[in-house]
Amino acid sequence: MGYLQNTKEMLMKARQEGYAVPAFNIHNLETVQVVVEAAVELQSPVILAATPGTMKYGGRDYIHAIAEVAARGNHVPLALHLDHHEDVDEILESLKMGTKSVMIDGSHKPFEENVAITKYVVDIARKFSATVEGELGKLAGQEDDLVVEAKDSAYTDPEMAKEFVERTGVDSLAVAIGTGHGLYETKPNLDFNRLNEIQQLVTIPLVLHGASGLSKHDIQNSISLGCSKVNIATELKIPFSQTLRKYLIDHPNETDPRKYMKHPKEKMKEVVKEKIRLCKSDGKA
Ligand SMILES: [Zn+2]
Repeated sequence: MGYLQNTKEMLMKARQEGYAVPAFNIHNLETVQVVVEAAVELQSPVILAATPGTMKYGGRDYIHAIAEVAARGNHVPLALHLDHHEDVDEILESLKMGTKSVMIDGSHKPFEENVAITKYVVDIARKFSATVEGELGKLAGQEDDLVVEAKDSAYTDPEMAKEFVERTGVDSLAVAIGTGHGLYETKPNLDFNRLNEIQQLVTIPLVLHGASGLSKHDIQNSISLGCSKVNIATELKIPFSQTLRKYLIDHPNETDPRKYMKHPKEKMKEVVKEKIRLCKSDGKA
């Protein structure tokens, strides 16, 4: 029987073997089913990522229960991960429900405040055998309610990353190297030299946010430079909503969600599988 895992072993194994564990943002029963089915079919470890917006929409208890059932019924390493959480009380609530992997996003706070809140969450999470992802640097773009203008984005400083990891004890670190949340209007130019400097100073797994729309080359290069978790959100929403929209227009009398959800789920699953292969995590379960 499977259970919800933390992401320590999952990401360490990925780092050692040169692949990344994909983290897919889920929103409801259907999206969890799609991600988990694809992971099982390709025998890939997988992370179900839930933002505060998703928890608000679906209900923290519902989202947690769905993920737990998914883990129980399947035999791939599976984690429910709190994506971009900023509220310590919300994180604690999820830890009590059995979530084993959390992100505390203090990236828009001044460095010392980010260190303090991240260390605080690490200390709490340890009591629940949970792992913590921190973030240093700021990605441009929008993820749910979190909006960062391009002018306010900031790349991760390698020396500060080293200090941040040492002082907080985080298990993984999200870095800003030129990716952004949402879709790219122009081709992003990733700073691989910076990523290389960071991975030489920081021994924990790194996390690549904003991977929707990145080329195979960019993703695989990031993985080879220490990114062991790759986050994908926007690129799953698009096939689901486009297919649903087309289906409802083509079938104006269809009112049964069990029927009109079928095709969007299939299309989304194709993208999940494509991303698993891109991360080279297939067969690594
Ligand atoms: Zn993100």
